[in-house]
Amino acid sequence: MTEIKKYDNDNIFAKIIRGEIPCGKIFEDEHVLAFYDIAPQAPIHILVIPKGAYVDLADFSANASGDEITAFHRAVAQIVKDHDLTAGFRAISNAGGHGGQEVPHYHLHIVGGAPIGAMIP
Ligand code: AMP
Repeated sequence: MTEIKKYDNDNIFAKIIRGEIPCGKIFEDEHVLAFYDIAPQAPIHILVIPKGAYVDLADFSANASGDEITAFHRAVAQIVKDHDLTAGFRAISNAGGHGGQEVPHYHLHIVGGAPIGAMIP
């Protein structure tokens, strides 16, 4: 098992999962929560997060259970379907300092609703 990075239980997404602060929830099941980004960068900007305490994509991929990983990706598929993103979308996961990650709880940005432009501007 890969070394588990130290998880900050006070990060803002942990507080959203615990219901301590509100979010614009669009999907929830046993393992996954999804909500609208508070500062959208596209007409549709959704954040999909696991409910488990994972710092980033590498931590989640190495240490989450099969059920958690399956639930996460099934949720992405459901969200894409529900928001009619058949014209396309981009899924982005920032990790660590070089990746520009602001919130240290794994999250996948799903952006769409219009052409998104260059992958790395
Ligand atoms: P990242 O740079 O990948 O860590 O992105 C963090 C994202 O979380 C940013 O796009 C923020 O706009 C978003 N964000 C921060 N706080 C909230 C919040 N309370 N509700 C929804 N989105 C948030």
